[in-house]
Amino acid sequence: MSHINLLFLLDSQWKIRRPRPANKDGNWEGQNGGDFFEFISDPSLRQIYRMVFERVKSEQREICLPLRCDTPNLRREAYVRIRPVNVEGGDYLEVENGTLSETPRPSVPLLDPHTARDETFLSICSWCKRVKVNDTEWVEVEDAIHRLKLFGRPTLPRLTHGMCPTCYHDLMASVTARAPRP
Ligand SMILES: [Zn+2]
Repeated sequence: MSHINLLFLLDSQWKIRRPRPANKDGNWEGQNGGDFFEFISDPSLRQIYRMVFERVKSEQREICLPLRCDTPNLRREAYVRIRPVNVEGGDYLEVENGTLSETPRPSVPLLDPHTARDETFLSICSWCKRVKVNDTEWVEVEDAIHRLKLFGRPTLPRLTHGMCPTCYHDLMASVTARAPRP
C-alpha cells in the first residue's frame, strides 16, 4: 500500500498554495497562503526543511526523504518528496507527504494528544519518532514506555519535539551530499 497524505505547492516566499489533504489526518485546505515554517515548531526541523527547499530550488531536482508519521495506534513508514514544478507559468516547490506502510499497534497514550500530562518533559524526534530515554539513547516509543516505567501512570510527561542526533546527522548528510554529475 502507498498513498498520499498531503500535497501542496510552496511559493517563493514559502507560502502554502493549493493544499490538498488526502485523508482525515489534517484539515490543510484552510492553510492556503499560510507560512510553511509557522507549522514547524522544532528549530532543527525548520533548518533541515529550509536547506532541502533551497537545494531543490538551486539544483532543480527532487529530494525524497523517508520519515515516520505515526499515530497512537499506527506505526507509519512515510516519505516527504520535494520537487520543482512549474504551474501556470509560476515556479513552485511541490511537497508531497505519503505513507508507504502502516502497522496497527495497541494505542500508545503517550502519543495521544488527549492524554492527561504532568509537568515533566520527554523529547521525541520529529523525524523518526524515537523518544529520548537518557543522554545518549533514543528508542522506539514502546521501548521508552517500558524503560521509563510509564505504563499505567495516571499522567504522562509532555512531549517536546526535537531531532535525534542520528536523524540530524543523516538528514544533513543527505541534504549536503554532492549532486550526481549529469
Ligand atoms: Zn530521529
